[in-house]
Amino acid sequence: MYTEDDLLPLSALQHLAFCERQWALIHLEQQWTENRLTAEGRQMHERAHEGSDEWRDGVRICRGLRLRSLRLGLVGVADVVEFHPQRSGPGRPFPVEYKHGRPKPGRWDEVQICGQALCLEEMLKVPVPEGAIFYGEPRRRMGLIFDSSLRGETERLAARLHELQNAGVTPAAILGPHCEKCSLKDVCLPEQTTSRQVSNYTARMVAAILKEK
Ligand code: SF4
Repeated sequence: MYTEDDLLPLSALQHLAFCERQWALIHLEQQWTENRLTAEGRQMHERAHEGSDEWRDGVRICRGLRLRSLRLGLVGVADVVEFHPQRSGPGRPFPVEYKHGRPKPGRWDEVQICGQALCLEEMLKVPVPEGAIFYGEPRRRMGLIFDSSLRGETERLAARLHELQNAGVTPAAILGPHCEKCSLKDVCLPEQTTSRQVSNYTARMVAAILKEK
């Protein structure tokens, strides 16, 4: 179990799942650069948090709920948590995350909301089997089951998050297709850093071969 002082932001799971170097540039080096897409995404989150709690068709809707897991060492805020009616108890929690843009090819968004579900389960001591992500394009809610594979990946990323935070070292760039979608590409310069790593590696290999001769 972690302590309150160890807690790291839930939102970091998404960055880490996308690219470990991007996570480090944002969370270790504070090199966040906002572009049009990230600004629109931030505004969408802020709107999702606005407004007071309400009831709709028997569902209690809570906005901006603070979340925490001492087991995973995570802290954050849920955009929306709905409490769906059930036979007894306060209602079944159903987290809803708001995302600007389209569904992603990877599970980056999914691990973040699964992290919220794991926090809710620990805090409320009830199962949270499913939730949803609302995407701006198209304006549609996509349901999500928190199955064992997604839970396992989320727990692995949470452990890795603490490992990297404790190490405090920005991982090297690994140039790939995801770099084209990265908001930090101009800061990271993956072509230059990757080719420099390859040159260093090649130089080390040549030196080792010459030493053996
Ligand atoms: S440009 Fe590529 S390697 Fe660099 S932070 Fe972004 S995704 Fe990671």
